[in-house]
Amino acid sequence: MGFSIAIDGPSGAGKSTAAKGLARELGFVYIDTGAMYRAVAYFLMNNEIDLDEKAEIIEALENIVLDIKYIDKNQHIFLNGNDVTAEIRSRAVSENASRVSAVREVRQKLVSIQRKMAEGLNVVMDGRDIGTVVLPNADIKIYLTASVKKRAERRLLELLEKGTSATLEDIKADIEKRDKRDMTREESPLKQAEDAIVIDCGNMSAKEVIGEMLNLVKQAYSNKK
Ligand code: C5P
Repeated sequence: MGFSIAIDGPSGAGKSTAAKGLARELGFVYIDTGAMYRAVAYFLMNNEIDLDEKAEIIEALENIVLDIKYIDKNQHIFLNGNDVTAEIRSRAVSENASRVSAVREVRQKLVSIQRKMAEGLNVVMDGRDIGTVVLPNADIKIYLTASVKKRAERRLLELLEKGTSATLEDIKADIEKRDKRDMTREESPLKQAEDAIVIDCGNMSAKEVIGEMLNLVKQAYSNKK
């Protein structure tokens, strides 16, 4: 039996940085589920599928093969054989990933892949519905959050570092829109699992967040033994 850690929370809270760091410290496999929703959105955009047409999205799903590989210990996502890890990080893909993730059939396909990937392994998985739907029996559930302002500042820095120009106001608006959609959708909305531990990381460095998570893991691991 593997040991599984579920990390959920809203966009830009630093889930992937923390999850990746935690997985590295523990020697666990890191699974970034957001990348899968992004890859689906990227495929639909490239194939000019109308995202308001649910039937078209569902039909297109049959033509999507996703694969995760680890290169130098980093997760790379392959869409129909092509590495799209970098391409899926744009603002347009973020917005469209949030839109397509509300479609039940998209979620069913991805949740089933995610469960298979985690089977029997020691994993850190991050997303929106990991503790509530994908791994309801996870050994630890963490809900990582911060204010919209803090999250927008962090996202802006990331984008600027990549050479993308954007303003804080734009990013704040993007985040508020995605939060609202992710939290109010009918299918597996983003919410804190009842047994999740909340970490508000607004005033914490990534190192501090990882440190706090490591403490939680140590406690849970000694309880499990
Ligand atoms: O985490 P990330 O920002 O990469 O996720 C992109 C989008 O994918 C989110 O806004 C959310 O709508 C969706 N998502 C989801 N369930 C997950 C992971 C991501 O609905 N487990």
